[in-house]
Amino acid sequence: MNQSILKIQNLHANINNDTILKGINLSINKGEIHAIMGKNGSGKSTLAKVIAGHPKYKINKGNIILNEQDITFEETAKRSHKGIFLAFQYPVEIPGVNNLDFLRLLYNSNRKANKYNEIDPLSFFELINTKIKTINMPPNFLTRNVNEGFSGGEKKKNEILQMSLLNSQLAILDEIDSGLDIDALKSIANNINKLKNNSNSVLLITHYQRLLNYITPDYIHIMEEGRIIYTGNAETAKKLEEYGYEYIHDVNNL
Ligand code: ADP
Ligand code: MG
Repeated sequence: MNQSILKIQNLHANINNDTILKGINLSINKGEIHAIMGKNGSGKSTLAKVIAGHPKYKINKGNIILNEQDITFEETAKRSHKGIFLAFQYPVEIPGVNNLDFLRLLYNSNRKANKYNEIDPLSFFELINTKIKTINMPPNFLTRNVNEGFSGGEKKKNEILQMSLLNSQLAILDEIDSGLDIDALKSIANNINKLKNNSNSVLLITHYQRLLNYITPDYIHIMEEGRIIYTGNAETAKKLEEYGYEYIHDVNNL
């Protein structure tokens, strides 16, 4: 039987008294890749942030279940410790914070929360070096400050490095493809495919179809005005590429 990782039921969420999410239903099982597509402003990033527990958003109806636990009002850090990882659409630069130290703190706080021993800097250095090799990241990215002066592609790679380090159960990747040239896009897609296995899940958020040429989702959901208005399979993306988002309205009206 397919095991559920995430179940979202009738989710409504507000920011600054504006209702952005207006009744989202979404179910993701272990081993699945789901994509959420939709026009700019349809609420994709809001959904990502609400799942991750961004404190600015207020949930006023519905719930979010992770591994059969209700996390609707759980704090952000706890959701992360329970296996939710959110890669930002716009990763922030953190001047003055060394990337290696940042990654070690991240890794150790996750271990501590899950009742594992924290590991010492030397062992961490060995671990992180094997991780960066698998994603072809040059070692000098460890000694630089977090994302400072990184190119768009390098910032996204640093997000993927965090995803691999945390062994995320549910990785939500918000426009991981934005601002990437074709080589960087292929490389990121390849790394995501490598990290994917039967016990984790990926939620890809993307505006464009091109990422889905390299990562094949099991389901594609189309968002519009804070709702999922259509769910299809990998073929849906090709139709959207050809006919635009109007295609969904045409199909829905048949
Ligand atoms: P998408 O990621 O699909 O482009 P977003 O989730 O970023 O869409 O935005 C959905 C809607 O929520 C937009 O209309 C946007 O203007 C609005 N929104 C996002 N953040 C805020 C905010 N901090 N305050 C008010 N409205 C916001
Ligand atoms: Mg967005």
